[in-house]
Amino acid sequence: MLNKVLIANRGEIALRILRACRELGIKTVAVHSTADRDLKHVRLADESVCIGPAKSADSYLNIPALIAAAEVTDAVAIHPGYGFLSENADFAERVEQSGFIFIGPKPENIRLMGDKVSAKDAMKAAGVPCVPGSDGALGDNADENLRLGREVGYPVIIKAAGGGGGRGMRVVHTEAHLLSAIEMTRAEALAAFGNPNVYMEKFLEHPRHIEIQVLADTHGNAIHLGERDCSMQRRHQKVIEEAPAPGLTAEERREIGERCAKACIDIGYRGAGTFEFLYENGRFYFIEMNTRVQVEHPVTEMITGVDIVKEQIRIAAGLPLSIRQEDVQIRGHAIECRINAEDPTNFVPSPGKITAFHAPGGLGVRWDSHIYAGYSVPPYYDSMIGKLICHAEDRATAIARMSGALSELVVEGIKTNTALHRELMSDGAFQQGGTDIHYLHKKLGL
Ligand code: ADP
Repeated sequence: MLNKVLIANRGEIALRILRACRELGIKTVAVHSTADRDLKHVRLADESVCIGPAKSADSYLNIPALIAAAEVTDAVAIHPGYGFLSENADFAERVEQSGFIFIGPKPENIRLMGDKVSAKDAMKAAGVPCVPGSDGALGDNADENLRLGREVGYPVIIKAAGGGGGRGMRVVHTEAHLLSAIEMTRAEALAAFGNPNVYMEKFLEHPRHIEIQVLADTHGNAIHLGERDCSMQRRHQKVIEEAPAPGLTAEERREIGERCAKACIDIGYRGAGTFEFLYENGRFYFIEMNTRVQVEHPVTEMITGVDIVKEQIRIAAGLPLSIRQEDVQIRGHAIECRINAEDPTNFVPSPGKITAFHAPGGLGVRWDSHIYAGYSVPPYYDSMIGKLICHAEDRATAIARMSGALSELVVEGIKTNTALHRELMSDGAFQQGGTDIHYLHKKLGL
């Protein structure tokens, strides 16, 4: 097993990785910005290194500072978590070139999947179903693009090849707006992602977001851990996730899961990954692959009993997967609510000092969070302060358990979105299950 791991992240995921390392008997190095000296995992880690000022660009995105921190602490591997540098192929490459193990896929796989056009091409080749649309990036020929729009059929969505985090997308309802939408998305994509390539997809009107969790080792084994339904979104950002997806049959799960596992073998994938799909009228359409651990991984852990972060570390250490496909069993239902420090009326981040805090608990309740009473949520980073996960024998009980757990959660001094989650747990359509990706948006009157 690895001797010492540097955790190149902050907040709840840094703590999550630290816990996995501890269980595996691995020493940990925490890195932090000057604004993050009081993070919980920094106190718990065996060693810690300050890597720069508060601004992410100077600290958590500062590749030389991270490599130097690994060097001075004699870490053997680096876990990137999610966000920050986790899907940066150049970073993965630098880590490996500097003699460290990158706990994640090979740089070339990150690069392949980081460009949504090349990702889609690779998935088509591997037999994974994709959203109908342009064959690769759009060219500059206006007539050709108009023809393509007619062929795909309106509404269409123009998406940036280098996009991420729900940015760099534009829906077009009529032909009259197509060319200007392509131009605008291209300009935004160049400014935001340094890549002007855009492509066209059919805009699915009422899809659900269903994704498949995969694990692949370096011994030629790849498995899937079933799906998660992440359809409850606001501005393309997930708010609630659950597993399994309401109404999905075991046969549907097996079929799409096996295709994803096979695609991992085809591209020589290594580590944990997620194939994201839109699901409409009983069909799956691939939209992108995330080559890292995801925020919502705990719901899969709860229903399968597989520790995804530990598997990531084992794979990086060169060990085979600890489970085979036939050992994967889905038990009960799990739901995750993302608790954000934000104003519930306008969703504006609400950083500041937490004056009082009480964590929920009880059977089947998991609270993944770095916060504590007296902790100050800094204004510089993502506003998520914790994830509340509830697991029960069935979906209705998981919802009831989540309602109870949410009412036990006390965070004072800052504003949070806890009340929104409580409202959603008692929402009729959510309780029924299977709402589409626009449901929350519409409910919030946006
Ligand atoms: P990102 O990398 O920015 O998260 P994705 O390609 O995963 O981008 O898309 C994010 C979200 O945008 C999806 O979950 C869905 O809500 C919406 N979306 C993307 N493509 C389509 C499409 N073809 N039709 C309808 N909605 C889409």
